[in-house]
Amino acid sequence: MNCSACSSRLAAYRDGDLSRADARLVSEHLAGCSACKALDARMRRVDAALTRIVLIEPAPDFTATIMAKIAAMPSPARRRVVWPWFAAYVFATWAVVAMLSALHVLNLSAIVGRIGGFAGQAGVALETLSRLGGHFHVADVAAIAVAIEIILLAVAATAGRKYLPRLGSALLGARS
Ligand SMILES: [Zn+2]
Repeated sequence: MNCSACSSRLAAYRDGDLSRADARLVSEHLAGCSACKALDARMRRVDAALTRIVLIEPAPDFTATIMAKIAAMPSPARRRVVWPWFAAYVFATWAVVAMLSALHVLNLSAIVGRIGGFAGQAGVALETLSRLGGHFHVADVAAIAVAIEIILLAVAATAGRKYLPRLGSALLGARS
């Protein structure tokens, strides 16, 4: 019997599962081969160590205790949009536009006229809307307010994403 055949039969040899003839061959090889003898000794030490492993038994009320602790924990906050923030933002934008137009900082008719000219070149019927808006000052303010809101939102989103990574979750009411 060579070393390969011996080492593949060592486990069965220790367990007494080999035939009497095979067991004698392994025994004879082990008597004359220090390498296989050392391997057999190592495997016997592993077997002995495995039998000494103590399994940890969980406490009888383990599951009940865990479930009770989970039940006692505060439920996570529901994600919700804080509408007052948005309403305050819209109101503030309109107030700023109204103030600027009252102070003649914004030339609303000129701006609306430019928008109308662009719309006409683009072949869009926005020119009619802008002419209508020219007759009604409130419509002018609304158009400018929407444009400024979009610009400010884009700026705020860009700046917030860069400098205030937690702003979005804070506005959405998430707890940190
Ligand atoms: Zn050997």
